[in-house]
Amino acid sequence: MSKIKIAELFYSIQGEGRYMGVPSVFLRTFGCNFKCAGFGMPRGELSMEAAGIAATHSLVTPFQKYEELPLVSTGCDSYASWMPEFKELSPMLTSEAIADRIAEIIPHGEWKDEHLVITGGEPLLGWQRAYPDLLDHPKMSNLKEITFETNGTQKLTPEFALYLHTWKSHHNKDFWREITFSVSAKLPCSGEKWDEAICPEIVCEYEEYGTAYLKFVIATEQDFNDAECAIAAYRKAGFTGHVYLMPVGGVESVYALNNRAVADMAMRSGLRYSDRLQVPLFKNEWGT
Ligand code: SF4
Repeated sequence: MSKIKIAELFYSIQGEGRYMGVPSVFLRTFGCNFKCAGFGMPRGELSMEAAGIAATHSLVTPFQKYEELPLVSTGCDSYASWMPEFKELSPMLTSEAIADRIAEIIPHGEWKDEHLVITGGEPLLGWQRAYPDLLDHPKMSNLKEITFETNGTQKLTPEFALYLHTWKSHHNKDFWREITFSVSAKLPCSGEKWDEAICPEIVCEYEEYGTAYLKFVIATEQDFNDAECAIAAYRKAGFTGHVYLMPVGGVESVYALNNRAVADMAMRSGLRYSDRLQVPLFKNEWGT
């Protein structure tokens, strides 16, 4: 039976993108190919907040669970889902154990109108091999809508692409599932390199197996200009999906500085605005 290293598994409201407001189970896998230490920092500088928390964790008072971890106002807000210092907080669980846990946390003990978000870290890194086993589990049979929240840099394996294709091509409604790729492509404000982060051909491939959309995290006019350059590159490669602008801000003080300005940028450019409802609703705490 396949296993997945799970950073978090919780039930909440989807705060971002296409399914904003939909009750959702979040399956956060461990591991990421990026660090995104530039978020919330002056351009060219990298945040040391998560590294400072990791040093405390390793040397002084180890945190016992995700809910005890501090929030950060700069850098990646889900840092513990990929930093090696926190890997022991993330158990390796079988598909059976994950399906059982989901049945415990959704309201009726089985899927009804809830949506599954497979997030990270970067959920398409190595776990693609394990998803069919989980998604085919009998306790997941009523699940109809799944989103992969990805940074858009990982190709689908031929095996996983074939698996997704069977869902997309099925004409019997009982076997049909809506697959979405929410692609949060990383602009230079993340601290990641353009050539490694903007991968149009990979995202175009996602469109063959589900609905894909782009979601750019924005703080400044310069970020907006970068987003426009990136959008042009994706369109040139043939990408047809929607594009969202979303304010930077894993904590309320930063989010509140940016949300109105980013909404204005979205309106003037004809792009979609995505909120981050988890910030005003739940303070973006771990497990929400
Ligand atoms: S891609 Fe996402 S999870 Fe990975 S470091 Fe960047 S913000 Fe964090």
